[in-house]
Amino acid sequence: MATFITEECINCGACEPECPNSAISQGDDIYVINPDLCTECVGFHGEEACAAVCPVDCCVPDPNRTETEEQNYAKLATIHPDKTFPSLGELTAELSRFRK
Ligand code: SF4
Ligand code: SF4
Repeated sequence: MATFITEECINCGACEPECPNSAISQGDDIYVINPDLCTECVGFHGEEACAAVCPVDCCVPDPNRTETEEQNYAKLATIHPDKTFPSLGELTAELSRFRK
């Protein structure tokens, strides 16, 4: 499930630098997440980094874009072609919210 930003966003900008995939940018009205770049932080953090810092809790799972851990993990190779990640089976709770 890619994360998305609701209309409650107050444009504070806190989430943008926290995303390990540079998936967040400032949109016309509020900040937005490119779902193709959002891995729900799989490979980097055990929770969604944007949601962890958002002061108004408006970074939430997109019910219209349900994705498995495998699908999120598969995006990493495309987003970070020069980076090596642990194999899917080696992901820990610190590297994947799906392991909790
Ligand atoms: S959940 Fe993680 S990867 Fe997705 S937009 Fe938020 S910080 Fe970026
Ligand atoms: S941290 Fe929350 S309120 Fe601030 S820009 Fe990001 S989504 Fe909007």
